[in-house]
Amino acid sequence: NISIKNLDITYNYENDSEEVKAARDINLDIKNGEIVSLVGESGSGKSTIGSSILNLLPKDTLTRGKIQLDGKNLLELPENDIREIRGKDISKIFQDPMGRLNPLMTVEQHFIELLNEHTDFGKEKAIEKSIDALNDVGIPPNRFEDYPHEFSGGMRQRIMIALALVLNPRILIADEATTSLDVVVQSQILNLLRDVTEKYNTSILNITHNLGVVAEISDRVVVLYGGKVVEKGSAEEIFHKP
Ligand code: ADP
Ligand code: ADP
Repeated sequence: NISIKNLDITYNYENDSEEVKAARDINLDIKNGEIVSLVGESGSGKSTIGSSILNLLPKDTLTRGKIQLDGKNLLELPENDIREIRGKDISKIFQDPMGRLNPLMTVEQHFIELLNEHTDFGKEKAIEKSIDALNDVGIPPNRFEDYPHEFSGGMRQRIMIALALVLNPRILIADEATTSLDVVVQSQILNLLRDVTEKYNTSILNITHNLGVVAEISDRVVVLYGGKVVEKGSAEEIFHKP
């Protein structure tokens, strides 16, 4: 599991006048296989927390506290170790798959490139793993050599999920992963994420401002306001208060 302890994040730290305290004393545990949704209005600090887990914050940012995975503090790891963890132990899926997929590469090429970077699988094993991952998200093998533009938005997001899962990460960070999709497709994708967590015991940190989609899939919900956690509890507790 991943455990965030007393996390404080300040942007523009060197520049006193423009300092932004984007996260204040955040404490958050995500257990194996758990889906935790991080919600809150725009600017409340959701993306900041998501990015801090992968050490992707801009340079002039002060980060204090701990983000522990297997007892290691991710905030103190050297860049090389973090790069190894990114994609492999912790994956991220984004709102805009078209912006992340290379229009000149087939689906197959995306998978091969990723697996070459992180594993020493031969081509055959890499293809087998990729087909399995695509199968989990409902993309048939005969689409393996197609290009990103040949898929619908929902299908592209499925490909992104398969790419995020092919290395069997422990944690998937979904940052507004379904926001740009229509409601029916959002629901399909969220159910898919739910199934995947069950099958592989993957944890999900689901970052979204869209409350409608949170209630149905979250084990726990954490509400942020102004960089602080203002409420947390089960989806039931948060949404059906008497
Ligand atoms: P959310 O994801 O909830 O919309 P963000 O984490 O993007 O919130 O932003 C939290 C706060 O930090 C906001 O006030 C935002 O303007 C500020 N912020 C985000 N990124 C930066 C940055 N790179 N430099 C300075 N301030 C930033
Ligand atoms: P999102 O809708 O994904 O939260 P934002 O508009 O908050 O997108 O941020 C888009 C990018 O701009 C992010 O990389 C974020 O870090 C950066 N950013 C957000 N607010 C600020 C800010 N006040 N100053 C500098 N960069 C910012």
